[in-house]
Amino acid sequence: MRRAIYPGSFDPVTNGHLDVIERARKLFDEVIVAVAINDQKQPLFAPDERLAMLRQAITIDAVRVAPMEGLLVEFAASEGAHAVVRGLRAISDFEFEFQMALMNRKLDSEIETIFLMPKEEYTYLSSRIVKEIAKLGGDVSAFVPPLVAEALAKKFKSPVESVAPVT
Ligand code: ADP
Repeated sequence: MRRAIYPGSFDPVTNGHLDVIERARKLFDEVIVAVAINDQKQPLFAPDERLAMLRQAITIDAVRVAPMEGLLVEFAASEGAHAVVRGLRAISDFEFEFQMALMNRKLDSEIETIFLMPKEEYTYLSSRIVKEIAKLGGDVSAFVPPLVAEALAKKFKSPVESVAPVT
């Protein structure tokens, strides 16, 4: 059984992530999408929301979504996975990813990191930019699954609209 871990914050999942998951699934028998829940970043969505959105958005088989606390290499070993999948968009991703991959190799030499490139149209896509567009009221429907677009709209609903009108 060839099993890979695809770790990340997924705050929220985008079409770029889904593209990487599909590519990874072609190479591995099972892909475990590991949602980092002790992230240093301040996430917009709670871990449960990120997990639920991923589970609803992923429509292919043999992909499992799981929360991940602690070290990636320990999580991978506990799941019997020897590969870590990461997405590479542009040169800007490279330095950080290179450092992480080599550090993980130092921590566990059995684990290989492999990098997958998304479809060209997703190379400029990130959760951060999607959140910025949604926050400013822009249309993100081309970048995320419909349920994520709805969740973003709800998060950024202007407080004025949600206040009951004064009668
Ligand atoms: P992190 O918070 O660890 O950067 P993300 O959840 O943003 O994680 O992304 C997880 C992985 O998916 C990372 O390897 C990231 O480079 C990759 N990724 C994110 N967006 C895209 C995209 N549009 N195309 C390809 N890979 C992507």
